Amino acid sequence: MRNKIVYLVGSGPGDPGLITVKGLECIKKANVIVYDYLVNYSLLKNARDDAEIIYVGKKGNQHTMEQEDINQLLVDKAMENKIVTRLKGGDPYVFGRGGEEALVLKEHNIPFEVVPGITAAIATPNYAGIPVTHRAYTSTFGLITGHEDPTKDQSDIDWEKLSTGLGTLTFYMGIKNLPNIVSQLVKHGRSKDTPVAVIRWGTTTAQETVTGTLSNIVEKAKTIKPPAITIVGEVVNLREHLNWFESRPLFGKTVVVTRSRDQASEFSEQLTDLGANVLEFPTISITSPDDFTPLDKEIERLESTDWIIFTSVNGVDCFFHRLSELDGDVRDLKGVKICSIGPATTERIKGFHIKVDCQPPKYVAESVVEVLKEIEDLKGKRIMMPRADIARSYLPEELQKMGADVADIVAYKTVAATNGDNSVLDKLKDETVDIVTFTSSSTVRNFAKIVGEDNLSAFKGNVQFASIGPITTETAEEMDIKISIKADEYTIPGLVQAIVDKIG
Ligand code: SAH
Repeated sequence: MRNKIVYLVGSGPGDPGLITVKGLECIKKANVIVYDYLVNYSLLKNARDDAEIIYVGKKGNQHTMEQEDINQLLVDKAMENKIVTRLKGGDPYVFGRGGEEALVLKEHNIPFEVVPGITAAIATPNYAGIPVTHRAYTSTFGLITGHEDPTKDQSDIDWEKLSTGLGTLTFYMGIKNLPNIVSQLVKHGRSKDTPVAVIRWGTTTAQETVTGTLSNIVEKAKTIKPPAITIVGEVVNLREHLNWFESRPLFGKTVVVTRSRDQASEFSEQLTDLGANVLEFPTISITSPDDFTPLDKEIERLESTDWIIFTSVNGVDCFFHRLSELDGDVRDLKGVKICSIGPATTERIKGFHIKVDCQPPKYVAESVVEVLKEIEDLKGKRIMMPRADIARSYLPEELQKMGADVADIVAYKTVAATNGDNSVLDKLKDETVDIVTFTSSSTVRNFAKIVGEDNLSAFKGNVQFASIGPITTETAEEMDIKISIKADEYTIPGLVQAIVDKIG
């Protein structure tokens, strides 16, 4: 029988990379995950497939579930002998009611552990370029709730001591109450010229920062909504020099990735690292061919094959997967020369501990023909190409013209993803998307199909379209989609570079 336990886990302030190693382990092993509004949803990707995932978020005054019910839920789920991970934004014990939840668990004799998280007052100023302490400015730093009812007769906050007794002050949950906070500080002796920063959705791609002084921050931050934190103190001035996060080249830009879900992650990560807000909108998905017979026949004949040309990472994966299903392995490739279309495909082949004999200087079919021609006379050579069902006929045709015996084999099928994510479609419509990326002709065609002709022409003027290479660009332009960002090197890093050059 499993042992019941509740982990109260701080998920950090928003950037999913800021969860602790221990916190992530608790997500991975949980049978039940109970999570809040401020928890980055993408962390839940790490949960077990069979985990029960329960949202209990409180957004301002909209409570999905009252605190007493959340406490009871934790108790009930644990009593079912489950591993329960209670995920909270920031740190569970910093204005997070983690203390109350832990006491209830204790009362019910339920074993619990508490995993600290990086709290908003530490992380969000950092991501806005503000170190919360610095020897030249302050040696004290306070965390304060800004949520206190301003009409309350007796404040729990000793404004007199706080206003001048501490250097850096950070106010949680205080955006609505900002006028009161500011007036209390000034009334109790803090200089009106003290710098202030208000940071909304800190550490995420939606981070927004407003700076000013105690005399003007109320006016300057009046459009800022929760969740936001307020930082008061001389350290705020360091933002001018240390604003690393918002200075990244794609910060504030929203980029749509149309690759298949399986292939999107590398591209998405590179864009995210540069500060972009990435929306994955898979337009294609990869499936098995309708009939494996042609591929199987080729695999049986590997001994008499001279070359295999891999023109995609998918081709490599599907070929080796099938080889292994037929009880073969890399030894069957002895004597077969390998050509790869480009660096990503080469990397994947090398992952199987296989050397690549040739890779053309430009990562297109035309360049493959050129380079193979130079290596040897292809007359009578047996060449096999495990490719997509919709691959271009140029390569096999040219090789045949040179006298080669070409087996152009369907190793996988590219099918259109049926329906797009509506939230991405909405963002495209309301003009919050900056760039749509295409990484193959089929992503262009299917993107157009999914969004529909009317929508496409509506957002053509607002969005920039980016293409990985000349064939993709040609397909887009045939469909009247103007490509304004073109990769010089026809790879994902090449496309990322082109976007940075144009936008960053
Ligand atoms: N336990 C959390 C705080 C919960 S109280 C922690 O340790 O961070 C909720 C308040 O935290 C919000 O109203 C806001 O003031 C602050 N906060 C949390 N995450 C934030 C973020 N990403 N950006 C700005 N403020 C944040």
